[in-house]
Amino acid sequence: MTHPTRPPLLNPLFAPARSLKGVGPKVEALLNRLFGIAPPGAARVIDLLWHLPVGVIDRKLIASIAQGRIGDLVTLEVTVVEHRPGGPRRGARAPYRVLVEDDTSALELVYFNADPVYLKRLLPQGSRRIVSGRLEAYDGLLQMPHPDHVMDAEKGGLPSIEPVYPLTAGLSNTMLRRIVGLALERLPEMPEWADKDWLARQHWSGFTAALRRLHAPEEDADLGASTSRKRLAYDELLANQLALAAIRQRMRRSAGRRIAPAGKLRKAILDALPFKLTGAQARTLAEIDADLASPNRMLRLLQGDVGSGKTVVALLAMASAVETGAQAALMAPTELLARQHLKTISSLTESTGLRVALLTGRERGREREELLQRLEQSEIDILIGTHALFQEPIQFRDLALAVIDEQHRFGVHQRLALQAKGIGRGAELLVMTATPIPRTLLLTSYGDMDVSRLDEKPAGRKPIATRILPSERLDEMIDGVGRAIESGAQIYWVCPLVAESEVLDIAAAEERFVELKARFGGKAGLIHGKLSAKEKDRVMEAFVAGEISVLVSTTVIEVGVDVPNASIMIIEHAERFGLAQLHQLRGRVGRGTASSSCVLVYKQPLSEAAQERLEVMRRTEDGFVIAEEDLRLRGGGELLGTRQSGVPEFRIARLPEDAELLQAARDEARLVLSRDPELKGERAEQLRLLLFLFERDDAIKLIRAG
Ligand code: ADP
Ligand code: MG
Repeated sequence: MTHPTRPPLLNPLFAPARSLKGVGPKVEALLNRLFGIAPPGAARVIDLLWHLPVGVIDRKLIASIAQGRIGDLVTLEVTVVEHRPGGPRRGARAPYRVLVEDDTSALELVYFNADPVYLKRLLPQGSRRIVSGRLEAYDGLLQMPHPDHVMDAEKGGLPSIEPVYPLTAGLSNTMLRRIVGLALERLPEMPEWADKDWLARQHWSGFTAALRRLHAPEEDADLGASTSRKRLAYDELLANQLALAAIRQRMRRSAGRRIAPAGKLRKAILDALPFKLTGAQARTLAEIDADLASPNRMLRLLQGDVGSGKTVVALLAMASAVETGAQAALMAPTELLARQHLKTISSLTESTGLRVALLTGRERGREREELLQRLEQSEIDILIGTHALFQEPIQFRDLALAVIDEQHRFGVHQRLALQAKGIGRGAELLVMTATPIPRTLLLTSYGDMDVSRLDEKPAGRKPIATRILPSERLDEMIDGVGRAIESGAQIYWVCPLVAESEVLDIAAAEERFVELKARFGGKAGLIHGKLSAKEKDRVMEAFVAGEISVLVSTTVIEVGVDVPNASIMIIEHAERFGLAQLHQLRGRVGRGTASSSCVLVYKQPLSEAAQERLEVMRRTEDGFVIAEEDLRLRGGGELLGTRQSGVPEFRIARLPEDAELLQAARDEARLVLSRDPELKGERAEQLRLLLFLFERDDAIKLIRAG
């Protein structure tokens, strides 16, 4: 990737960490591991700067050896008395010891496998040294094994408070401190991008000073709640909100259209529906209608749990577009879901003459060409597909509404890309998500959008009874499964999530499948991500048809299949799943008329957090409640759920703690762009710098390319 427009001031920060003295391939590999960077990526100087200390070690000198307490980490000024090389001793080498003393007492510095030449140079006899390390007692003697620091007392220079960084095996704190120190030397003085009055009111220092301060804490309290961290958190949130405001502005800039048909087509569909809309569906639809009817483009997020009836809402919105003579598109995250949408929508619109078609990676050759031709000639009203829909140069005759059923894969970056490429330009945009997102996170990830909530389930849904079961009782449960199968029930059996490794997941699922097959024969089925699309379809069809009673799977079924007859969900190793994911999986049952149940099987020992998660699952089925609980339990840290929901991860900011800063950043971002839409005014250059610094520079393209 080239960054032709990155301000040169920042170049030193985006240079590879390798450019720092003493960082060779070996240390680079350690840094990559520490920062979770996979090749071809490589740690950069800026990654080191964002790597903040999590604690401090007190290296203040204590008055004398006699005052040191055994077990404590102490820093002392001493005189070197003599070297005691360790001779051979019963097979093993005795350690090399150096006797040191002060006015009060003596102490041995102890080195195993040390180089005597090096030690003689480090600790010349008679010299005065500052040594820092843990004080221990051995055979009645005071010892300090492998001091962390040995410094010349004349020169001094040991900071009295030493920051402690998160580390990885092979990388010591001393080494990392040195490298971070070099990285800090590259940090330029940044011009101020924040509003002056706001800064003064917060009593904040400038960006550069704040970052330096965080790497040189003067006391423990500096680390967490410090104003320096707040300052940087605000900057990060401001960059995030500016990017979102830019998407919104760009979206709004290209005129939308007024879509306000008489509603004949919608009425025909409604009349044919076998149910009445829920209150939430009707309310949401009214919100969408208002957007469609206004001259502004719609940019709306529809949030609703699995099964809350989003598809019907999308269909009715699309019907409005079609009635005006235009086209609509519905994009699903997987092929399986695209087909399911096709099925649902076709059946709901059978009597209305609506022309619906499917386009995925699988339609090829003649079939595909014919389809594209029909699309271009307006012989297709609604096109359903996977993301292939928006990737290829597909020509709609007149696309008025794009619906994206994201499940959880359409984050800020994808929306930016969509806008930047001008895909669906001029079309109204409705994004649907099945991941309920806590209110604070909604701002960071969908701050550019208007939001509707489907917070009511269709009538007649029965609650799902949720049980928590230790894995020791798995045999009992399999007996229960046998009885359920005999009574005609269908069961999902989800296998453990192993460290995000699909291969291992499959192995676990296959093993369970073999076991269940031995017992239930052809009634057991297996599905996972590595099966071909054909095989997956075959298995799913057999499950839908009731030929398979118990379907073992990896988490692939998470992204949505609708089998109303399935009424039991078993999740193994439930303790490893995040709340969001458990909730999504459970939502696969409870869609039919039978009462449903969910069994969360866990393996002992259960951590406190895992236990709380399972308790939340037992207590409630409300996705919005679960999402808030999830955020509370995780304290904004990262876990499965957020990454999947497209919620950006922050390096400095923490949510929900920084919610107030977030609100301020949002107001500021909107204000900035409303006053200076193309970012040309007085603070523009600084704000651009901010966007580059936090790597939200893709937003700059949106702002610039009016
Ligand atoms: P989502 O996409 O939100 O997961 P769907 O739109 O697939 O949910 O709806 C789930 C099921 O509920 C479908 O079978 C759908 O036909 C049905 N459904 C939708 N709305 C209602 C309603 N108002 N009353 C009863 N059933 C409904
Ligand atoms: Mg859906």
